[in-house]
Amino acid sequence: MELLSVNLLEAGYPKQVVLREIRFKLEAGKFLAVCGRNGSGKSTLLRALLKLLPHLKGKIYLDSRDISQMKAREIAAITAYVPQVTEPVFNFSVEEIVSMARYFRQQIYFPRLSETDRKAVEEALILTETQNLKHKSFNHLSSGEKQRVLIARALAQDSPLILLDEPSSHLDLNFQLQVYQLLKRLQKEKGKTILVTEHNLNLCLPYCDRLIFLKNGKIMASGQPPEVVNRRILQEVFDLEVELRENSSTGLPEISLIHRREADQ
Ligand code: ADP
Repeated sequence: MELLSVNLLEAGYPKQVVLREIRFKLEAGKFLAVCGRNGSGKSTLLRALLKLLPHLKGKIYLDSRDISQMKAREIAAITAYVPQVTEPVFNFSVEEIVSMARYFRQQIYFPRLSETDRKAVEEALILTETQNLKHKSFNHLSSGEKQRVLIARALAQDSPLILLDEPSSHLDLNFQLQVYQLLKRLQKEKGKTILVTEHNLNLCLPYCDRLIFLKNGKIMASGQPPEVVNRRILQEVFDLEVELRENSSTGLPEISLIHRREADQ
């Protein structure tokens, strides 16, 4: 079953159309990575899927419903969004940040958390191993901890689809790996459908079932990783001469950068 379907999407800002002719489908329970250089339109694509852009043409269906006909709360029932960790927030505690997810779907203005809400928050904290941080101020956490808390908030929202905007940026290698392993676990154990944007192909490749390469706001290639990862496509996507090697633990291709010595340039 398709949870997300995008047909001939054109999207952007009042003075700049960024995305053109975007067409793809994402089946429930799958893990999709959208890869491309900085400025290729990855964040803009996520904003389009959340119906946050002033310029939006074409069709986006969430669970077979046209999002142009859906209210924000109805979109939030299906889609949770994990922003980049740099986006500032007020000085809330971790528990408060994660609890906010439960309000997204409520109709009343001054809602109270029910027992079910509290359980959902607690489970999200446990799954992301952030339980011990719950009374800490979010702004005092390390980037890796913040990222896990933002994922906890998305989990507490209890929506089947999670969109993440470059979840590895601002994290060291250890945290990058931890975040992707956590996302894979949520896909496998909780049946979540995951869509990440990512510029680091080596990182997301072992975890995703499908890949989309974006270049200058258009899809350059899409498919299962073995179908789309080749030297020619990567050179075109990243505007860079690269070599591919085999990762010794996964057997999957990996980008190897070519470092020229000054004398060779
Ligand atoms: P990526 O996430 O791949 O780095 P973005 O989607 O952020 O790329 O940016 C794609 C293009 O959209 C860039 O040319 C950028 O300048 C432009 N852009 C991004 N945000 C805005 C905005 N709020 N207003 C106008 N243009 C924007």
